[in-house]
Amino acid sequence: MTEHAHRFQPEEWKFACAADTLSYCTQKVLDPAYFIEEVYRDHDGDWQIFHNRGEADSPPKLFCLGCVCDFDPSVMQLHDLAPGWFA
Ligand SMILES: [Zn+2]
Repeated sequence: MTEHAHRFQPEEWKFACAADTLSYCTQKVLDPAYFIEEVYRDHDGDWQIFHNRGEADSPPKLFCLGCVCDFDPSVMQLHDLAPGWFA
């Protein structure tokens, strides 16, 4: 992934991983017509983000976690989600 800027300030970033960490997303996570319904952190510490009406069988897309937070700042509050939990 190429280097790119995010709208939030660096000090707003509370995740233990870097802002450009890739997360596994459903296809429409960054589509304004949809909203983020579920954020899941798996046991490896990987982030998985699902939009509403997610098609579970469609291939996941990789998005940078920072871009997801730019799109929906409420995801930022989930920075301390423990592995194996979802919100
Ligand atoms: Zn990004």
